[in-house]
Amino acid sequence: MNTPGEFDIIRNYFHRHATAIDLVAGIGDDGAVLRPRAGFDQVVVTDTIIEGRHFPKDLPADDIGWRALAVNISDIAAMGAVPRFAFLNLAVEHSSGAWLQAFSNGFFELAEMTNTVLAGGDTTQGPLSITVTVIGEVPNGKAIMRSGARIGDSICISGTPGEAAAGLERLQRGDAEDALVKRFRRPMPRLALARTLQGVAHAAIDISDGLVADLGHILESSGVGANIRFDALPVSDALRDAVNAPEDYVLAGGDDYELCFCLPKNAVERVQSAAECDITVIGEITAQTGLSIVDHTGAACTPKRQGWEHFRGEGSR
Ligand code: ADP
Ligand code: MG
Repeated sequence: MNTPGEFDIIRNYFHRHATAIDLVAGIGDDGAVLRPRAGFDQVVVTDTIIEGRHFPKDLPADDIGWRALAVNISDIAAMGAVPRFAFLNLAVEHSSGAWLQAFSNGFFELAEMTNTVLAGGDTTQGPLSITVTVIGEVPNGKAIMRSGARIGDSICISGTPGEAAAGLERLQRGDAEDALVKRFRRPMPRLALARTLQGVAHAAIDISDGLVADLGHILESSGVGANIRFDALPVSDALRDAVNAPEDYVLAGGDDYELCFCLPKNAVERVQSAAECDITVIGEITAQTGLSIVDHTGAACTPKRQGWEHFRGEGSR
């Protein structure tokens, strides 16, 4: 079979008919022409995923396509925004049609679910690396920053982080597929929650590197500290059954792309009932800087080292 060239790749796998009121011209010219909508700020995010570092070497191509877009849309969600356009810079060593078809299927599956239009990109030959840029929009002045946390805010997380990290371990051991593995393969960005948080949350971040690390960014940007209650951490039955010290996975596991956000106390119930997913209050923002994890008596508590060591050295992602 002939291997497709650069222009065949673009035409066959990435150039899909797309219309959007704010898209003047998409794939096929030297540049995309976008017309920002009045009343909205644009949020631009970009993330690269590399084989062997962000995903295992033999991960199926449709999962790679999904993930490349998902990690970016998650950043859009963390800003309280909605995705509009994506740009895909793809380097592949050998252009196998089957691989490209599966990759684009996974990519477009999430793009269609989230109304994200692929409006351009670049295709080159090289070691597998995928950079996606997403442009999103949010009503003027409503983007949620890391820097807005206030003393006394409740610290909340969506869903049950930690599952994807346990799923990745399963995958690397070659264990059978289960719900945890699915969490790693197909993370679902919290876009519906992002809308609920617009104009309500003081600060937000998506959990890509682990709760402690990512909450740490909010604390640093906001110049505040936090108390986290170990007993309040949400541990799913699946995670509890799968690993020792599941709380360590909740605290340090990345890859779930749940949101961590800070709410004024009086908004917590409203957000919990409006959200499509479980929202757990895990602690509160304090004037004393630094992050402390306390047990139900308020005493400082040190999670088992194993979990911390396990994730250390994965480096910045
Ligand atoms: P140029 O040579 O002018 O840089 P290219 O030949 O790289 O243009 O790209 C042609 C068109 O195809 C452009 O509109 C570009 O945005 C789009 N494109 C290239 N690669 C991809 C890709 N992987 N995904 C989506 N669009 C792409
Ligand atoms: Mg180009």
